[in-house]
Amino acid sequence: MLEEKLKSLVRDVPNFPQPGIVFKDITPILQHADVCSEVVIEFAERIKHLEFDVIAGIESRGFLFGLMLANHLNKPFVPIRKQGKLPHKTVSESYKLEYGQATIEIHEDAIAPGARVLIHDDLLATGGTVVAASKLIEKVGGEVAGFCFLINLAFLQASGRLDRFSTNVVSLLSYH
Ligand code: 5GP
Repeated sequence: MLEEKLKSLVRDVPNFPQPGIVFKDITPILQHADVCSEVVIEFAERIKHLEFDVIAGIESRGFLFGLMLANHLNKPFVPIRKQGKLPHKTVSESYKLEYGQATIEIHEDAIAPGARVLIHDDLLATGGTVVAASKLIEKVGGEVAGFCFLINLAFLQASGRLDRFSTNVVSLLSYH
């Protein structure tokens, strides 16, 4: 079963990026082309009821499967990046981190007016990143169609924070 395969490949890295945090490292999955293909096929199956025009992936791990999935579905892919990385005119959104704040950006012309956007990231933790990404999508005239994640840290109960944008939340692996 894919969930079991993913669970065995995701590596826990204690004390990264700071003491006390156990980081879920997804890079071992990328060593297995067959599992990557299964991930894309499973995402495609689980989101097939959603109507969307474009996939937006969040820097940087959201680019990995986000682009693979967009390509598989023959849909456009839009990168959401950390501040100062996108070369053209951007729209920004800042959000709070546990310590300090972060800013993410999107190209102002990346989303066609009214386009429905599926937001992808590798992992949902507190939800702060995808809430900010959703606000960006709305700021540039798009509509959030749903979210898909490789991993949901479900014990943090973030999916409720996403309801005001879309209740469609798909994740392939959950930790309770
Ligand atoms: P949130 O904003 O939901 O609290 O955190 C999610 C964001 O932080 C995602 O962009 C994700 O890539 C990153 N992140 C936080 N913790 C982890 C982790 O343990 N593993 C991975 N791969 N990413 C994490």
